[in-house]
Amino acid sequence: MPYDIDSVRAQFPILAEKVYGKSLVYLDNAATSQKPQCVIDAYDHVYRRVNANIHRGVHHLSNVCTTLYEDARQTVASFIGAADSSEVVFTRNTTESINLVAYAFGDKFVAPGDEVVVTVLEHHSNIVPWQLLCQRRGATLRVVDINDDGSLRLNQLADILSPKTRLVCAAHVSNVMGSVNDVHQIVSMAHSVGAAVLIDAAQSVPHFAVSVQDLNCDFLVFSGHKVYAPLGSGVLYARREWLDQMNPWMGGGEMIDKVSFAGTTFAPPPLKFEAGTPDYAAAIALAEAIRFVQSIGLDNIDLQDQKIAQQTIEGLEAIGGVRIFAKTARHAGAVSFLIDGVHPYDAGSILDKMGIAVRTGHHCAQPLMDRFGVTGTVRASFGVYTSEADIDALLNGVERVKKMFA
Ligand code: PLP
Repeated sequence: MPYDIDSVRAQFPILAEKVYGKSLVYLDNAATSQKPQCVIDAYDHVYRRVNANIHRGVHHLSNVCTTLYEDARQTVASFIGAADSSEVVFTRNTTESINLVAYAFGDKFVAPGDEVVVTVLEHHSNIVPWQLLCQRRGATLRVVDINDDGSLRLNQLADILSPKTRLVCAAHVSNVMGSVNDVHQIVSMAHSVGAAVLIDAAQSVPHFAVSVQDLNCDFLVFSGHKVYAPLGSGVLYARREWLDQMNPWMGGGEMIDKVSFAGTTFAPPPLKFEAGTPDYAAAIALAEAIRFVQSIGLDNIDLQDQKIAQQTIEGLEAIGGVRIFAKTARHAGAVSFLIDGVHPYDAGSILDKMGIAVRTGHHCAQPLMDRFGVTGTVRASFGVYTSEADIDALLNGVERVKKMFA
């Protein structure tokens, strides 16, 4: 065991909760993660001890809070290997980060006749903002398919890419399959035709180390709430050269230099993209969540995650009559499956009564469901506290569901 799961579990108060009188087996981490005590304490500390609006005050509390918020930005920057903390914009979540890029980058750099490329396995939040952008700008959305094993058809991407391609948007890890895309390759292919690349890292950042400089991407987005931080703590990484050229997407306080009716000038990035009072308590607690995962070690988390995924897949295969979507070379954080003859909603509801929380349905990835010809799957997704006993409980539950429908 790469680290002591029991001592990690002990740090998450919610894991002591009973569901229908049974121990909670929480396997819905791809939707949102649970919060360790240190993160709850960091959030609590803001409201109990230091709360005051940031960046505006000359008074003590405002200065303390501003320092904590800007320190959090620095913590995020080092966590994702950004060259400078000004390349980190705080948002509410992955969805807001992607929409920010669609408006602030897309409306400026995507012209009629241009193309934006996505993949068929994206979460809706990495599809719909690009559809809306293409409608606004008279551009075309192109889609890269997958092979039946869940891997991306990179040869098809090569065919699609052209001087018309402005932007390629791809998930690092599929939220449905847990498959890991070769984003290094995607970045170098896109850059070779002069296109920028956005990586949706919502499902990679919680499971293994990610470095924006190593990936050489233009944009990278993730949600704090999936990496043990509070809701409301989203991140957009963008190369400084883009942030300097992009227009603001929302106007208001905090993001200006000088306002007059003759015209307004803007603050330098990242504040140019943070209009209004940000959720500084969530951002400050995100920094604590990052220190928490770093204290376990991303490499250790990755090893344990792979072990858990393997246990899940081998166990489901041993049960038989279970289809896995899809058997990719590697599963990071999630395994999706269907039990033959059982609707995913029924399977999820029965597992729930056993205290096992899994997600059922399309997982906000309807195009991927269409690609597989199904309406939904059952998804088990993992966190740092997922134990072998959790997976044993899941497998035992699947066997019982199967017997009920036999
Ligand atoms: N992208 C991926 C890959 C996701 O898994 C999710 C959420 O599940 C999102 C984007 C959207 O995240 P949020 O709802 O936090 O904005």
